Amino acid sequence: MRKELKEYNFDWMLWNAFASAARLKSGTEKEYQNTLKYIPYFKGVVEPIMECGEPGRKFLEMSAKYLENIVHAKERGFKTAVTTFCFSPAIFYAMDIIPVGLEVISVMMTFTYKRGTADFLDFCNEAGFTETSCSSQRGTIGAYLAGVGAEIDLIVTDSPGVCDTNANAFAFASAYLDKPFFQLDMPPDLTGERSDEYHREDYKALIKFLEEHTGKKLEPEKLKACLDELQKQDNIIAELEEMARIIPSPIPVVYNLFVYASRFLFAGMPECTLVLESMLKNASENAALKRPGLKSGREKIRAFFCYIDHYAQNLQLWQMLEREEISYCGNILSRLWAENVPHVKEYGKEEAAYSVDTASIDSMINTLAGINSRMPMIKSIRGPYDAPNMWLEDTLALAKMYSTDVIVYNGTPGCRNTWGMVKLLARDTEAAGYPTYIMYSDAFDERVQSWEATEERFLEFLKVRRII
Ligand code: SF4
Repeated sequence: MRKELKEYNFDWMLWNAFASAARLKSGTEKEYQNTLKYIPYFKGVVEPIMECGEPGRKFLEMSAKYLENIVHAKERGFKTAVTTFCFSPAIFYAMDIIPVGLEVISVMMTFTYKRGTADFLDFCNEAGFTETSCSSQRGTIGAYLAGVGAEIDLIVTDSPGVCDTNANAFAFASAYLDKPFFQLDMPPDLTGERSDEYHREDYKALIKFLEEHTGKKLEPEKLKACLDELQKQDNIIAELEEMARIIPSPIPVVYNLFVYASRFLFAGMPECTLVLESMLKNASENAALKRPGLKSGREKIRAFFCYIDHYAQNLQLWQMLEREEISYCGNILSRLWAENVPHVKEYGKEEAAYSVDTASIDSMINTLAGINSRMPMIKSIRGPYDAPNMWLEDTLALAKMYSTDVIVYNGTPGCRNTWGMVKLLARDTEAAGYPTYIMYSDAFDERVQSWEATEERFLEFLKVRRII
């Protein structure tokens, strides 16, 4: 790794960048515009977020708070746990543990720095990872393996059986850093008595592990407060999802990113609620005025991303969607599986959804097990792609519900489970009438395919298939 990257802890630098960006709008508009001239390197990422108005500013504040928590965890007396985006952090907050979500932090870096996370990705390979392991964990864990981040206490994941490159990254880090490790396992069936019991018992073992390593008992009142907040958040997301069905969509393209990132960072905490409330307020105004979320005021087509997004510097994916007047109908990360969201109700999928029950400690643990087993990817990539409640069924249902004109797949070379089935999935979605585009880029590492090439090929597909 380059020497200069070892001078400061990477999470400390990132926190300072986000904290400064979040404050930029606290003065006058003139002061903000003048400041942009002095931050040419960061201007490209600050502008598209700030242009979203209050939700953008709140999103930056929330991201800065998340990094601040990590940087100051030790001096404030908290343990830290390295974890994954598909693990709900609510349990950590209920137990005073600071989550360190690798993938979202990688995205913060790829959005912000031209260098992306390349040095940390490569350090993982020096330490023993394969080059085709998922770049979203490597982008951040590389820094912790190299000792240029805050101190880590625990490693907790839940992806075995769903994404083995993800699971292996955490197991490797645990061995390398010599830290206590826990992983929830996922059986191939989502529903049914045996799977329910498995999820529940596994989750109880996780709580035991966390109690053992923090020396603190799980407090029911704290857990209830988190779940009450989480339910409030789910209700807001359900309203946003309902509004996204309107043609043209009143939801600005970047809101889906804000929805899933907020849940991954602060599910069950007021920081997440503040961002969601602000988006709901703006989207409701758009809907009332029949105003599209796209800045141009015109919606040419609607796209559903059946997997994850592309996180090139300066939110270039979202800038392209704006420019081409493509409404964004969400992706696998932004769709919630609470019992009250529109797609669950519309398709009678209550069995595949979770419900929140805070009546007793047992019902709250069942709730958490239900939430975790319905997190993005964990829910729908665990079994065969065309089995009930899995990837194909979800994709077709969501594409139909949001009146999608095109389905797009993007992942990383590490997504072996989805690469193994994406051509079959595309064959089936095409047969169902949805043009389906497979991107061959890496969502977190532009060295695999530049954003410019990725964009050009996507736009060529839209033209050749006469979608746009
Ligand atoms: S499925 Fe893909 S993006 Fe998700 S953790 Fe696995 S390798 Fe990474």
